[in-house]
Amino acid sequence: MSALPGAAAASPLAPGWLEVPEDLNELVPVLWAHDAARTSGGELAVGGVTVSELKRRFGSPLYVMSETDFRRRARDFKQAYEAAFAPLCGGADVYYAGKSFLCTEVARWVTEEGLRLDTASGGELAVAARAGVPGENLGLHGNNKSDAELHRALDMGVGRIIVDSLPELERLARIAAERSERAKVMLRLTPGVHAHTHDFIATAHEDQKFGLSMADTADLDEPSQGKSPAAQAVAAALAHPSIDLLGLHCHIGSQIFEPEGFALAAERLLTFVAMMRSVHGAELPELDLGGGYGIAYVPGDTPRQPSELAAALARVVASTCDRLGISVPRISIEPGRAIVGSTTFTLYEAGTIKNVQVDLPSGGTAPRRYVAVDGGMSDNARPVLYDADYSAVLASRTSAAPPALSRVVGKHCESGDIVVRDVYLPEDVTAGDLLAVPGTGAYCWALASNYNYVPRPPVVAVTDGTARLIVRGETEDDLLARDMGA
Ligand SMILES: *Cc1c(COP(=O)(O)O)cnc(C)c1O
Repeated sequence: MSALPGAAAASPLAPGWLEVPEDLNELVPVLWAHDAARTSGGELAVGGVTVSELKRRFGSPLYVMSETDFRRRARDFKQAYEAAFAPLCGGADVYYAGKSFLCTEVARWVTEEGLRLDTASGGELAVAARAGVPGENLGLHGNNKSDAELHRALDMGVGRIIVDSLPELERLARIAAERSERAKVMLRLTPGVHAHTHDFIATAHEDQKFGLSMADTADLDEPSQGKSPAAQAVAAALAHPSIDLLGLHCHIGSQIFEPEGFALAAERLLTFVAMMRSVHGAELPELDLGGGYGIAYVPGDTPRQPSELAAALARVVASTCDRLGISVPRISIEPGRAIVGSTTFTLYEAGTIKNVQVDLPSGGTAPRRYVAVDGGMSDNARPVLYDADYSAVLASRTSAAPPALSRVVGKHCESGDIVVRDVYLPEDVTAGDLLAVPGTGAYCWALASNYNYVPRPPVVAVTDGTARLIVRGETEDDLLARDMGA
C-alpha cells in the first residue's frame, strides 16, 4: 500500500485492510445512518440532533438510533423483494429478525412499514404482544422451544412456527391436537450451505445444532427419496391432522455480502420441494430463505443493495422452478442486521488515554494509543465474541491533528475489553471528547450484559430533529432489584 503524497504513513501495527483516512473527520457514508452528518460547527448530528445535546439529555454511553433510517432500510427490503418476486409468486414477505434488536417501538415501526416479525423465544413473543403485532405476522424460531413457548405461540395465533426437529414436530402436533387446533408450520432444513463474512462453503453433511438434515446420501443436489431427517419430517407433518405444513425454511449464516450462497441454498431447497411433490404429492407453498445479509462495519466493506440481492435471488428461483417444473413458492426472508445495524451508533466519552510502544517483529517499536471509553464489552460484546471489527470517529468536534493508530477500549476488568481494535483517530483526542462507533444497531444492545455491575445504556430514537428514549437506561436500583440480600 503506497501512501498518497502528503498523507501520513500507515502504522506498521495496523492491519492490512486499514487505510490512513485522508480526512479523519469524514463520515464514510456506508457506515452511517443516511441522516448522520457533521454540523457547520463540526459536531456529529443525526436527524439534526447533535451529540452534545444527546450527551446532555441522556448521558453516555448511549445507543443512538435513527428511526428515519430504520424505516427506510425496512422499506427498502420490503419493496426490493416485493418487486423482484411479484412476477414470480405475487410478492415476498420480509420478517425482521427481532433477535438483532427488539423493543416495542421497533416492533411497531416494523409493522407500520409492512414487515413481519421473527421471534425466537417467549420473551420476544412478549415484546411483540405488548407492541400489538398481529399474531399472523409473527414467526417463532428456536432449536429447543419449551412447551410453554409452543402454547404461547398458539395462544397468540402465530403465523408460522418454524419447527427445528422431529421431536419438536411430534410435541407440537400433540399440543395442537390437545387444543383442537392446527399449528401452522415451516420446517427448518439445513441445506449444507454455510456462509460467514463474504464467503460460503457447501458441504453435504451438517455439523450444527439447528435444523433437519437433507442428507442421507453424500449428494445434496440429488437428495434421495425419503430417508433424510428432512424427508421424514415432511412425511410426519403431512400425516398429522393438527399440523398445517406451509413450507420450508433455511438460514445459512450471517454477515454475507454476495448472493451466491443464498442462491445455492434456494436451489437445494427447491430441488427438495420438487422431490417431496413427486414422492408425497405434497404442495409446499412457502419457502423462507432466512437472513444474514451483511453490513459495513469498516470503511472498505461493500455490502450490496437489497434490490441487487433480490434480483439475483429471483433469477435463480425462477430458473430452478422452471427446470424442475414446479410453481414458484411464496418467498420470504428474515434480515435483522441489514435493517437495524447501520441505523445506530454508540456514543461514548473518552477518558484515560495511554500511549504504548509496541515491539515490532522486524525490530524497533511503533506507537499505539489506548483510548478508554465509559462503556465497553458490556454494551458491545461482538469484538470479544467474534473478533468483530468496528470503526470510530471523534464526534464532539473536528480536528486537524495528525492520525494516531488507536485502540478504543472499555472500562471492564478484562484486557480483551476492546471496542475498536484498530482505528486512526486524531492525535489530540483527549479525556472529555465524545467518540461515536457506527454500526452498533444489531447484536450490541441485544447482547448487552451487566458485567462489573455496569448498567445497560439507554436507547434513543431520533427522527425529524427530535430525540426520545425508546428504552431507558438501567439504574443502580435495577442492578440491585433481584439481589435478595437486605
Ligand atoms: C439470526 C437469524 C436471522 C437474522 O440474521 P441477520 O444476520 O441479523 O440477518 C434470521 N433468521 C434466523 C433463523 C436467524 O437465526
